[in-house]
Amino acid sequence: AVATAAESTAPAVLGVPGVLGVPGQINLDYAATAPCAVAAAEAVNAILPWYASVHRGAGALSQRCTLAYERARQTVADFLGARAEDHVIFTRNTTDALNLLASALPAGTTVVTFGGEHHANLLPWPGHPLRLPVPSSPGAAVRSLGEALAELRRGPHAPAHILVAVTGASNVTGEVWPIAELAAVAHRHGARIALDAAQLAPHLPVDVAALDVDYVAVSGHKLYAPFGAGVLAGRGDWLDAAEPYLRGGGATTRVGAGTHDVTWATGPARHEAGTPNLLGAVALAAVCAALQVADRDTLRADEERLVARLRAGLASIPGVVELRTFGPDAERVGIVSFAVAGRDSSAVAAELGREHNIGVRDGLFCAHPLAKRLLSEASARSGLTLPPTALRVSVGLGSTESDVDALIAALG
Ligand code: PMP
Repeated sequence: AVATAAESTAPAVLGVPGVLGVPGQINLDYAATAPCAVAAAEAVNAILPWYASVHRGAGALSQRCTLAYERARQTVADFLGARAEDHVIFTRNTTDALNLLASALPAGTTVVTFGGEHHANLLPWPGHPLRLPVPSSPGAAVRSLGEALAELRRGPHAPAHILVAVTGASNVTGEVWPIAELAAVAHRHGARIALDAAQLAPHLPVDVAALDVDYVAVSGHKLYAPFGAGVLAGRGDWLDAAEPYLRGGGATTRVGAGTHDVTWATGPARHEAGTPNLLGAVALAAVCAALQVADRDTLRADEERLVARLRAGLASIPGVVELRTFGPDAERVGIVSFAVAGRDSSAVAAELGREHNIGVRDGLFCAHPLAKRLLSEASARSGLTLPPTALRVSVGLGSTESDVDALIAALG
């Protein structure tokens, strides 16, 4: 966590949280893992001398760590716009958060997702989740969800509970999903909704209460904080009634002599057994605090300009075809995927890294059903034969026009 001056990138503009980087290396893979924010590194450095157990010791160091951990929880809650009664549970990442929620669903819950989800939001759900087809527009997503929920409710075997699980922004196309509208439809049909904000939260403000979503999941490492810290925030009733996600110290209020004689805690502690990840929580909270005081409208406008430049540059290269679900003008965060006709995507990515010091991602981006479908649609749209996997470029805090221009020049 200790950054040397040579490795740090100073904030380009006042009020923009700075991120760490290595001179000469162009990172265009923020969607996989964003660079570490200076604020995160500083917060870690500040707490390191106080390093002691959280929730366990009586000494001053331990008390300070406990306070820092619980303050971090509150900062993250504020950043996500959580309601006062929501539980904010620290997890390892979004995958962990969604698996925790999956483990806490009451019996008789049917989960509804779209085929465009990341595997983390497709695979954890128990029973027989209903997977709706990838919609062609945000409006179509809202209509399709409404029809599916009405149908589920009408059927002879209407489920006791329904949870809709959707992404806020696609990790393949960067397209932003109509979360407030989907939440309204879900609630109209008596369903709950969980938001996978892994890709949304780093780019746009997420307000759980204003969007009226029941749960939200984020990953610290995509939010300019270190690996190993994520969050599940949301309604406490199912979470308090569920079996603990992890069993062990910290999750109980009383343990008797009998093997199963245990009283489990309620609240976040119920699902956070074991010594918690203090550094991860503190670092994540530091980024949340930095983003909350940043001018996010300006950050967003800068990002939109960068994405427009990137897309225009890609469109100018013969054989490059963009992947998209909703159409060319859909709102998107700083993520663009594409394929190059006649070129193997992993070979292109490897060459960008080796010859140009540019890091991008290739593959199907842990969203195989969506990426395969979009590749075949892109091929049909362009009339070009595309490779079976794609390339993804993603930007964020600290990305510059010259990063994008270097990529376009190298690709060209
Ligand atoms: N959802 C989305 C939309 C993602 O992009 C990712 C990460 N690529 C995840 C969930 C899973 O995040 P993590 O690997 O941090 O658990």
